[in-house]
Amino acid sequence: MYDMTNKTTIVTGGGSGIGRAIARRYASEGARVLIVARHESSLKETADGNPNITWLAGDITDDAVVEEIGRYVEKEFGGKLDVLVNNAGWCPVQQITEITVQDYDKAFSLDVRALVALTVRTLPCIIAAKGMILNMSSVGADHPAAGLSMYIGAKSAVSQFTRVWAIELASKGVRVNAIAPGAIETNIWNVTNMDKEAERRHKENIARSIPMGRFGSADDIASMAAFLASDQASYITGAIMPVDGGQGAF
Ligand code: NAD
Repeated sequence: MYDMTNKTTIVTGGGSGIGRAIARRYASEGARVLIVARHESSLKETADGNPNITWLAGDITDDAVVEEIGRYVEKEFGGKLDVLVNNAGWCPVQQITEITVQDYDKAFSLDVRALVALTVRTLPCIIAAKGMILNMSSVGADHPAAGLSMYIGAKSAVSQFTRVWAIELASKGVRVNAIAPGAIETNIWNVTNMDKEAERRHKENIARSIPMGRFGSADDIASMAAFLASDQASYITGAIMPVDGGQGAF
């Protein structure tokens, strides 16, 4: 649908869920995609033999891994990066009465610090390509909910970075956007600290609060990511695009 032939792209958190769907969508449009996540097995599963997808296994909260990604772009992508998708994220579900400072560190080191580190490291290559930075925010950034303070705090930073960087980089021909997904059916819902029954009830309650009455799919987010990376979106920057079944309309 959107021609991305020979565009160079990075998708963090490309080993599952939304990142996997975006990586596969970009590759199917002809882009060269580097996916990054911690486990090689899940990255291989995403690539599934597709020659357009290569991977680098590593923890992006580690600055040495960020440096390795930067070098990869310089060497393998010829120093030009058309699209950086800062997608990797983690969502602790805890009230402030139970939260620990370690939960804060884990959420902010991945959802915020690693996003900044990778953006800063690859920015010269993004500027060289007049490319786009695409950050994964959340509907929660503008619609707070109990139990999500660390996550919503982190995603609020992601949304605001998106707006400020868009203003700063527009004159260099670089667009900066974010997607604000609502509830999307992925593994992120299975790695909370809730037991299975509490988790099921939590998801049912959320589905009831969505005007469309159901969770979205990772492919719904990939469609928006493909549109934003395309020439059709060439006048869109500083936008936080909701893909949420109407959840953010309240
Ligand atoms: P997911 O758990 O399937 O994906 C998260 C990915 O990040 C995984 O591939 C994981 O391996 C990777 N990751 C985690 N820690 C990492 C690290 N330290 N280094 C490198 N990679 C790491 O969940 P998802 O739903 O696909 O989440 C993708 C993004 O979408 C996240 O930023 C999340 O906050 C955001 N989001 C998801 C939803 C939803 O309902 N699923 C809603 C709003 C926003």
